[in-house]
Amino acid sequence: MSVIKAENISFVYGTGTSFEKTALSDVSFEIEKGEFIGIIGHTGSGKSTLVQLLNGLLKPTDGRIYLNGKDIWEQPKKIRNVRFKVGMVFQYPEYQLFDETVYKDISYGPKNMGLSEDEIDEKVRSAAEFVGLKKELLDKSPFELSGGEKRRAAIAGVIAMDPEVLILDEPTAGLDPLGRDALLSQIQDYHDVRKNTVILVSHSMEDIARVADRILVMSHGEKYMFDTPENVFSKGRELEKLGLQVPQVTKIMLLLKESGIKVNQNILTVEQAFTEIVNHLGNREG
Ligand code: ADP
Repeated sequence: MSVIKAENISFVYGTGTSFEKTALSDVSFEIEKGEFIGIIGHTGSGKSTLVQLLNGLLKPTDGRIYLNGKDIWEQPKKIRNVRFKVGMVFQYPEYQLFDETVYKDISYGPKNMGLSEDEIDEKVRSAAEFVGLKKELLDKSPFELSGGEKRRAAIAGVIAMDPEVLILDEPTAGLDPLGRDALLSQIQDYHDVRKNTVILVSHSMEDIARVADRILVMSHGEKYMFDTPENVFSKGRELEKLGLQVPQVTKIMLLLKESGIKVNQNILTVEQAFTEIVNHLGNREG
């Protein structure tokens, strides 16, 4: 059984007002337990709306969302439980830090779940470790942390709730390339160790290509594709028409292919490109 199933979901902002805006139309997909899903799409394609529907922050105008086979809106009063199970890290989550200490901030979620002090402590420390936050920072005020550390603390606050599904909306936005790579690797490690489902929203194809098992491509509020990175990036020219940049190395292979050189264009990393080109040269000489 899939962990999340979206069935013909649509969402309209400001229904009946002059600001009425359809953000999602008739989107359906299923996500298997333990998958690492990337969601990409141009600005305004509906990514943020979609993930807020998945954790019950917004209610679909039409359609249904199932978590482990259960319609999440079947009992609207229990929607809070869905938010614990589907943890959401918003864009620029550091702005939501508010407590006296980093420790208290990270423990806010587990406390609300009614766990014991010992359980909370274990969850806070393990979450801080996953995001690479040093122990000595836990007793500081969140306002004493650097930008990157604040981001990590905010993500730890969601991981500490041990959600079955972790959704991160543009978690690397605004970080420098080193910080970006480190955070992505930590999210990947979290996924490898905990084996939870992770959904990562990003407009960076490079990020998504590195980590995702499957990619959901959104365009103008609709599902454009939902497939493996290889299959998605083999549609390089179509993606460019949607305003999405394929990873640079994929683009180079695409250009080589278009100029008549018979290489495989479904390449996601520099290492794969190297092997492919060496093989091609070898075949040609042989
Ligand atoms: P993305 O995350 O891909 O940038 P969004 O889900 O934020 O896309 O937006 C989808 C569409 O819904 C856009 O046209 C956007 O302008 C509109 N939208 C988003 N949030 C609101 C809102 N609070 N009120 C009205 N329209 C909104």
